Amino acid sequence: MKTYSKLILVLCLPLLLVTLSGCLKTNAQDKDLLEQVKEKQEINWGVKNDTELFGLMNIKTREVEGFDIDIAKEITKRLLGEEGQANFIEVTSKTSIPLLKNGNIDAIIATMTISDERKKQVDFSDIYFAAGQSLLVPKDSNIKKVSDLGSENTVLAVKGSTSAENIRVHAKDANILELENYAEAFTALQSGQGDAMTTDNSILLGMSEENPNFILAGDNFTNEPYGIAIDKGQDSFVLEVNQALKEMKEDDTYAVIYKKWFKEEPK
Ligand code: GLU
Repeated sequence: MKTYSKLILVLCLPLLLVTLSGCLKTNAQDKDLLEQVKEKQEINWGVKNDTELFGLMNIKTREVEGFDIDIAKEITKRLLGEEGQANFIEVTSKTSIPLLKNGNIDAIIATMTISDERKKQVDFSDIYFAAGQSLLVPKDSNIKKVSDLGSENTVLAVKGSTSAENIRVHAKDANILELENYAEAFTALQSGQGDAMTTDNSILLGMSEENPNFILAGDNFTNEPYGIAIDKGQDSFVLEVNQALKEMKEDDTYAVIYKKWFKEEPK
């Protein structure tokens, strides 16, 4: 009997060790994000590189600049102190959640609408900017609002964006052409591959300012509240981000950053 018990133990021991090491490994991977960023003294932010006013690469300085970037820098400072470093990694609407999920970035601050669909995969901070979907058209276009779009029209949108989904509801008959990013979509609009381009008014406004031959048409036809996305199960990080946003609003830092980019008081 004794020999039999020993045999069972010998056979089961490797299995037990493998299971234990698996548990240890999982614990290391699941380590609290807030602890991790505090330890390494840096936060890897997923940001836009092609979006005027929010996240745009300055080709002279090779630095990305915009409202999202300044908010991310300020949150980093408040979470990690003056020495804390904010790193910026380019994302698009399509790539941001996969990059967050595989650990390439710690958080997304990239004109990202808080949506129920996305909440199945990520958690969001409180709203830090209120946008709404609109249209960009050539100045002389006869498209004045979303209901003017018919089956003879092509609308340009960006893959993975809420706008690409919403436009199918608001312009049922129009053809939708989805591009990889805003630089590509705007080039397509300029070359006449589409009659209008659609995304958030805040993004289109930046393009219109840079290219006055293109204007916004009609009122916003959706609400697009922007939030910072963080992987699920990182409640302490979300709490501290929300606390930082709240304090930034109270001590006016938020208003200063807002005015710097949008030349008006925050709404
Ligand atoms: N706010 C919209 C979204 O989150 C569009 C912005 C974007 O494409 O990045 O999908």
